Amino acid sequence: MLIAGNWKMYKGPAEAAAFCRELRERDLPDDVDVVVCPPYVSLEPAVQALAGTEIGVFAQNVHWELEGPFTGEISAPMLREAGVYGTLVAHSERRQLCGETDESARARTRIALEQGLHVILCVGETEREREAGETEAVLRRQLADVEPDDSLVIAYEPVWAIGTGKTATPDVAEQAHELIKSLVDVPVLYGGSVKPDNAAELLAQPAIDGALVGGASLDLDSFVAICRAGSRS
Ligand code: PEP
Repeated sequence: MLIAGNWKMYKGPAEAAAFCRELRERDLPDDVDVVVCPPYVSLEPAVQALAGTEIGVFAQNVHWELEGPFTGEISAPMLREAGVYGTLVAHSERRQLCGETDESARARTRIALEQGLHVILCVGETEREREAGETEAVLRRQLADVEPDDSLVIAYEPVWAIGTGKTATPDVAEQAHELIKSLVDVPVLYGGSVKPDNAAELLAQPAIDGALVGGASLDLDSFVAICRAGSRS
């Protein structure tokens, strides 16, 4: 079970460090892997505050080249040097707002894995696509040519459920997870308005291997509650 907190564009260096110092003091279940994904400038403070713990620090994005004239971008070796353990790739906000494509997502995933980072690759359909019955086709397209890898995890994040308070029912999520696993046999996280009060039911589904949590990961108590809801013990 993996619970990852995506902080999006929240928590600068001081706030990130304070959060991580408190998080490491909390009683987290042994059978749950915990990850936080701070913004770039807060990665090193988070890595330092969590040193010596099992809690992983992931970036929210990575470039597909190792270095070069790419103003404003960050490469996989830079993340490694900063002590970062992995990265999100192709979060739906990046697909919708920053021109991320299936092709760029594949290139980012490939280089990150090659450079020794773990990857959480995000996929999911929009509301329009779901209503048009296109969910399966969208997931197949987003996952075309993605190969299983020990360091790869996929996050199923139906776009209509992200930051909206709408959550996929456990059945809807389970169906999508089964399809994803049949396409790429790796652990699959669910993301989309996961909160302390719905986490246990979602995480109890057999094909749900964890959660990618946005808004509810910004508050320490609610993030810890979700981590605890993921424990099978
Ligand atoms: C996310 O940002 O990945 C996410 C799932 O957000 P939220 O939990 O706020 O819907």
